[in-house]
Amino acid sequence: MLVTRFAPSPTGHLHLGHALSALTAFDTAQAAGGRFLLRIEDIDQGRARPEFEAAIYEDLAWLGLRWEEPVRRQSEHMADYRAALQSLIDRNLVYRDFRTRREIAEAIASAPHGPVEDVTRGEALPPDEEAARLMAGDAFAWRLSLKKARAALGPAYFSLVFEDETGMVRADPERHGDAVLARKEFPTSYHLASVWDDALQGVTQVIRGEDLREAAHLHVLLQKLLDLPTPTYRHHRLVLGADGQRLAKRDRASTLKSLREAGKTSDDVRLMIGLKAG
Ligand code: GLU
Repeated sequence: MLVTRFAPSPTGHLHLGHALSALTAFDTAQAAGGRFLLRIEDIDQGRARPEFEAAIYEDLAWLGLRWEEPVRRQSEHMADYRAALQSLIDRNLVYRDFRTRREIAEAIASAPHGPVEDVTRGEALPPDEEAARLMAGDAFAWRLSLKKARAALGPAYFSLVFEDETGMVRADPERHGDAVLARKEFPTSYHLASVWDDALQGVTQVIRGEDLREAAHLHVLLQKLLDLPTPTYRHHRLVLGADGQRLAKRDRASTLKSLREAGKTSDDVRLMIGLKAG
């Protein structure tokens, strides 16, 4: 059975771009007699706000969507992501990177081979140096070591594939370099939590915007390393504003809340984003 989801972050009001993701996922589930899930991606507790979460439910109900309860709220499951991270730590697939954002920006600026190679160290500091940094209480990021992943998976690393709307795609995790999967005080990044939850929730098809197309290349590798199934992917076009630029959460005029308050209907929204009226 097809299982798909809409996974917004409650860090602002939903706009027309979110409506396209949510409606595409919902319509796809309906047409296939499948399931539609809603997941609140609120791991960034510095930016997530309860009023935005409440607005998500209101906006989606107004659009005519129905979803399964209970809704999974990521902030309530940090122990899951910590355990997933720990399994990568135990297998030496991640390492602590103590460089500051500024040091990394400087490394990128002086990179001879392009940005990706130079943010990638590939392994931990020598043990005594690392111990000293930990003793000093320094901040660090947990990065996925592509070098270790290649060694762990052998030839399978080079035959990672996923299916999207264009057909079968060879996954190329190298384009992400050694991605940050967590930080010292923060057991997960979007990538780790999203991959974990899609598998846990039995999602068979991930439907999201074109802007996350690149993420699939990393997610497929994480799935392999964590022994999770790879769903199929479908990336939809982005909704552009009148200026031809993609919409951002700060574009007030295109928030679903302001459209609702201006008296628009859910069919108006569907037509505005190029979908058939419901
Ligand atoms: N939470 C992400 C966002 O709001 C979406 C993640 C996903 O669909 O995988 O951009």
